[in-house]
Amino acid sequence: MSAKRDYYEVLGISKSSSVDELKKQYRKLALKFHPDRNNSSDAPEHFKEISEAYAVLSDPEKRQLYDQHGHAGVDGRYSSEDIFQGARGDFSDIFGRGGGGFDSIFESIFGRGGGGGFSFNQERGSDILYQTTVTLEDVLHGKKMEIDLQKQIQCDVCHGSCCKPGTNKKTCATCNGQGQIRQTRNMGFASFVTAATCPACRGQGSIIETPCSDCKGQGKKKGSKKVTFEIPPGVDSGDYTVPNEGNEVSSGTNGDLIVRIHVQPHSHFNRDGKDIFYDQDVTMIDAALGCEITVPTLEGTEKIKVDSGSQPNTIIKLKGKGVSHINSRGKGDQYVRIVVNIPKKLSKHQKNLLDEFQKTRD
Ligand SMILES: [Zn+2]
Ligand SMILES: [Zn+2]
Repeated sequence: MSAKRDYYEVLGISKSSSVDELKKQYRKLALKFHPDRNNSSDAPEHFKEISEAYAVLSDPEKRQLYDQHGHAGVDGRYSSEDIFQGARGDFSDIFGRGGGGFDSIFESIFGRGGGGGFSFNQERGSDILYQTTVTLEDVLHGKKMEIDLQKQIQCDVCHGSCCKPGTNKKTCATCNGQGQIRQTRNMGFASFVTAATCPACRGQGSIIETPCSDCKGQGKKKGSKKVTFEIPPGVDSGDYTVPNEGNEVSSGTNGDLIVRIHVQPHSHFNRDGKDIFYDQDVTMIDAALGCEITVPTLEGTEKIKVDSGSQPNTIIKLKGKGVSHINSRGKGDQYVRIVVNIPKKLSKHQKNLLDEFQKTRD
């Protein structure tokens, strides 16, 4: 007997994961490893493994048994088929529409009735654009965002199954769950096969007998959801993707949330990648005699020494006082440019002093 892997490990979740996290993770893996989508030879085995792990962990009683006694606790009590049947409603929620849903998975795993015919509904929710403005200070530290997003959300009553809770979709009898009706017509020497969308189920392969009254059988509805994400330090203006947080679908893949970031120009700093540029005014006298000044940085202030005889446009570098950048390591620097102010107006006294000064030059 080969050793069975730990169910949590199989799904890549932790023991404390919530039912919601479990479901999300299973859906993700199932879409990846379903034999209809994945051609590798071990996909069916892998799909069975993750589905079994999900079936056990999604059932509170079985999960408890498993947590206490491991595989022995569950396997001793339930057959593999019992386990899958027990999670029937959940699988239907996850695989929702499409030819046959749960029955097809069950068949593909246990090999009843020849399988086949199962196809994922590849519906994908649309992306949502969210625009936000951040300051240079936000660029320095990054920013946690929590927004109320108006979007299509999966119906929380039927969890996207579109059916009234406690009921299931029925395989369409008209097309046998295929979603299509094939007709063969013999035209003399040749026969033509035409495939038309099944009118009874509109190509869905299944029929909702009792629609969920909350979403009117749509599996989704307009709503608002709190979405949290982090704007990383060092961002530039541009589009960033928060996967899976766009419009939700009843079954399939959610759209993405596209966060369009505008970095606001700063009133006195300029930014170029990781570096910050700042102009510091210094009087002609201070430039000539030298001085100590305090300059602002993104994080506070910094004292710098202006040497005597400093020339206009002298650059003083403040190491590590820039910002980080998402595409590189470490922080940039701040460059302080010394702008020497020549007085535009002089008092009579000042003029006399400068005249005196002039006479001292040889
Ligand atoms: Zn619903
Ligand atoms: Zn049909």
